[in-house]
Amino acid sequence: MKIGCYLSILSLTFISLSGDLLAQVGGCGTVVSVEQIALEKTINIAPSKSNESLPLMNRELSVTIHVVRDQNGLDGITSIAIQNAIEKVNLAFSPIKLSFRICAINYITNYQFNTINSAVNESDLLVQNYSENTINLYFATTLIDKFGSEVCGYSLMPSAGKDAVFMEKDCVNSTELIHQFGHLFSLYHTHETIFDKELVNDIKCNVTGDKCCDTPADPYLVGLADSNCEYLGSLKDSKGQFYVPSMKNYMSFSNDICRCAFSNDQFLRIINCLLNNKKHLW
Ligand SMILES: [Zn+2]
Repeated sequence: MKIGCYLSILSLTFISLSGDLLAQVGGCGTVVSVEQIALEKTINIAPSKSNESLPLMNRELSVTIHVVRDQNGLDGITSIAIQNAIEKVNLAFSPIKLSFRICAINYITNYQFNTINSAVNESDLLVQNYSENTINLYFATTLIDKFGSEVCGYSLMPSAGKDAVFMEKDCVNSTELIHQFGHLFSLYHTHETIFDKELVNDIKCNVTGDKCCDTPADPYLVGLADSNCEYLGSLKDSKGQFYVPSMKNYMSFSNDICRCAFSNDQFLRIINCLLNNKKHLW
């Protein structure tokens, strides 16, 4: 298990760039593109009601696994480890009866792709190794995000029109894969600020932050969780209200061991994404 998966975030700062890419960079290298921001403008999801049960999808989607072999021809990851990771994803998505099934494992012998660089060779990788209508999950030894940082995982958000998740092999046992499937189905970080910073008591919580009202405002949790998953911060929002963030949300930057849940509003976003942007998935 790569210890650097989340600890490495400590050494990285929150990066926000003007131009066509805006992102948080850390253990996760998923970026919110201007295209995704434009797509988001077409989405309007009412917050969940506490007395309402979640719709059930009763769907099993196909996943094509791509394992890049190293220069010695070694996989660097076992099919059992991958299967176990998918089962953890299935558990996380089980409240809406959405699950994932490995339909094929493709071994990539071009070891140049054992370092997947989002800005350099990702597009070539996708051209040569991509299965339409399935979720394509790539495992490589090293992942480099658009900003040149090594990350545990990243995915293409719905506006990309591709269904692709990229993971470092050493991160397979972490909750990063669940986090990345969240992004794949349109979830944002709970500390997201691209759509405006969410206040602790925010009447516009469905359009600010991560656009989910049932995920508390999150000040960015890197370094703020103790070993018992308690919040260590004492930060206030711009109105002087203390943050009371969730330390267990899969889409937060809480400690890996703390992350164990999606919220109902997040599930509604996943469902909306599946029904509108990912109808093509088998
Ligand atoms: Zn992320």
